[in-house]
Amino acid sequence: MPIVNRIADYAGEMRTWRQHLHTIPELALDLPKTSAYVKEQLQAIGVDELHEGFATCGMIAIINGQGAGETIGLRADMDALPIPEETGVDYSSTHAGNMHACGHDGHTTMLLGAAKYLTETRNFKGRVALIFQPAEEAIGGAEIMINEGVLETFDISQVYALHTAPGFPEGQIVTTPGPIMAAVDEFHINIQGLGGHGALPHETQDPVVAACGIAQAIQTIVSRNHFALDDLVVSVTQIHTGSADNVIPDTAYINGTVRTFDKEVQAMVIRRLEEIVKGHSVSYNVDAVLNYEVGYPPTINNHDKAAFAADVAREVVGDAMVIDDYERQMGGEDFSFFLEKRPGCYLFVGQGEGPSVHHPKFNFNDEISPVGASFFARLVERLQPVG
Ligand SMILES: [Zn+2]
Ligand SMILES: [Zn+2]
Repeated sequence: MPIVNRIADYAGEMRTWRQHLHTIPELALDLPKTSAYVKEQLQAIGVDELHEGFATCGMIAIINGQGAGETIGLRADMDALPIPEETGVDYSSTHAGNMHACGHDGHTTMLLGAAKYLTETRNFKGRVALIFQPAEEAIGGAEIMINEGVLETFDISQVYALHTAPGFPEGQIVTTPGPIMAAVDEFHINIQGLGGHGALPHETQDPVVAACGIAQAIQTIVSRNHFALDDLVVSVTQIHTGSADNVIPDTAYINGTVRTFDKEVQAMVIRRLEEIVKGHSVSYNVDAVLNYEVGYPPTINNHDKAAFAADVAREVVGDAMVIDDYERQMGGEDFSFFLEKRPGCYLFVGQGEGPSVHHPKFNFNDEISPVGASFFARLVERLQPVG
C-alpha cells in the first residue's frame, strides 16, 4: 500500500497510542483521561499551538506550514460508547460498561499520526488546525465547538474527517459528493387515556388502540406522503403500555427515529406527525402529545472538495481502492455541523471484515492507521503545496 513512507515508520507508535486510548474509553463531553493523553502526545510531537477547553475536553492544535495560506481543519472524534466490551483483547476497556465501539480511538490516532508527520516535515503552505472533538455519539460536540467559535477563532476555511468502516476492504477509502449521511431526529408520543377493567372497555378511553392506530398511520408518511425517489426513513421503534391481561392502561408511549437528507422533507414529516397525533387524539378520544427532537443535520460533502479528497485517496491507496460515488447512508454524524459552516469532505476508511461499529466485539484495525494518517498528510500537502 503506497502510504507515506515516513508515516509507515510510525505504525508501531500509532498502535501504542491507539491501544492505550482503547483502554480508557470515556463518554460524551467528559473525556479527562483521553484528552490528557492526546495532549501529552501533541506536546511530544511539538505542535506549534495547543488550545484546550473547547466543549469541555476538546482541543485545537495548530501546525504552521511554510508561508501564508489557508487554515485546513482536520477533525477526529474522541468519545466512546456505553457498551460493555466483548473483544477479549489484552488492551480491553478498563472502564467497566464503556468501550471504543465506534473506532474513535483509531480516528484520534490517525490524526495524531498526521500531526507527527506534518510537524516534522512542514511541506505545506498555510496552517493545519487539528480538531480533537468530544461527544460525537451524543450531545453533538461539533456543534458546541462551532458555537464556541473555533472556526472563526482559528480562521478554519475547509474541514475534513475520516471514519472507519468495517465490512469494506482494509484501506479502501469511500466517499461521495453531496449528502453522505442522514439527518437524525427522534420523536416521542405520549398518549393519555383513561384506564379501567379489561371487560368494560366502554368505560375507558383506551390508549392501546390509539397507539396501534398512530403507529399504523405513521407508516403512511413514507408510503403515501413522500415522493418515492427521495430518501426517507420513519421508524416506530418503541411502543410501551399495559401491565395485565384484564386491565386497560391509562397511558401509552411511542417513539421512533426519522432520517432525512432534505429540510423540506424533514418539515413534511414533522407536520404529518403532528397531524396524525392530533387527528388520532380526536378519533380515539385520548390526549396524545408529540415531542419531536431535531438532531444532527445531514452530512453534506462539498462536490469539489469531495473530488479533490478522492483524488488524494487514490494517490494513497490506489485507484482500485477508492469509491468516490458511494450511496448515501441513513446513519448520522455530527461532523455535519462543520460541513454546514465550511466546505469539506467526510470519508470512510475500510478496515476489513468483522463486527459492525457499535457492536461489543468491534475493534479498530490498527493496520489502517497509517492509511488514514497518510491521507490527511497528503491532503494538506496537496491543498497548499510549497513552491
Ligand atoms: Zn458511532
Ligand atoms: Zn463513530
